[in-house]
Amino acid sequence: MTARPFRMERDMSKNESHPQPAPRSHAILRGGALALALIALDAGAAQNLTITYYDVQGGNLQELRASLNARGPVGKDGARHHGHVDWHVGWNYDYAPRGVGCRIGKLRVDVKATMLLPRWTGVDTAPASLQEEWERYSQALRVHEDGHAAHADQAAEEIQRRFAAVGGGMRCTQLGEELNRIGQAVLDDYAARDKQYDETTEHGATQGARL
Ligand SMILES: [Zn+2]
Repeated sequence: MTARPFRMERDMSKNESHPQPAPRSHAILRGGALALALIALDAGAAQNLTITYYDVQGGNLQELRASLNARGPVGKDGARHHGHVDWHVGWNYDYAPRGVGCRIGKLRVDVKATMLLPRWTGVDTAPASLQEEWERYSQALRVHEDGHAAHADQAAEEIQRRFAAVGGGMRCTQLGEELNRIGQAVLDDYAARDKQYDETTEHGATQGARL
């Protein structure tokens, strides 16, 4: 089980990201009758997004860029970025023997994402034209980061779909291993999509996230 949920963004077009969604998988094996009553998957995912800010300062574009580059969070690549999304998808299920096989009982897939964005502390006293440019940039950066956060939701939905499609016939230990293998594969896939998204958008630059 790897546990490195991470995404980082940067202003320049050479940003690198480190999407490393972390699985939190917990298999709970319960006694037969209890879980057998719940063969139908009781699945639900709900995105839980928290947004936090770091402060930047400046009286003109050049100063703002310098502040962003100095104060943006440092990614695992050692470079500073302007935005950051950290997402986790975890799953819980219980299962129980049924005949020679095993069936999933309750299934729950949880999503949690944290977004870090810049906040310009001097915006209220800045010239209108600079405020407008900041607003444009901020909205574009948010759009870009939302694209990463959406991957968390999509990963959770895919995990639910693929868990539901797992056939019977496996023993419970095998079933547990299979579910975790599937879940991890989906997380790996979406980590790759995050990376591809950054390559395609140049870390948001093509979406306007450039000041
Ligand atoms: Zn990005």
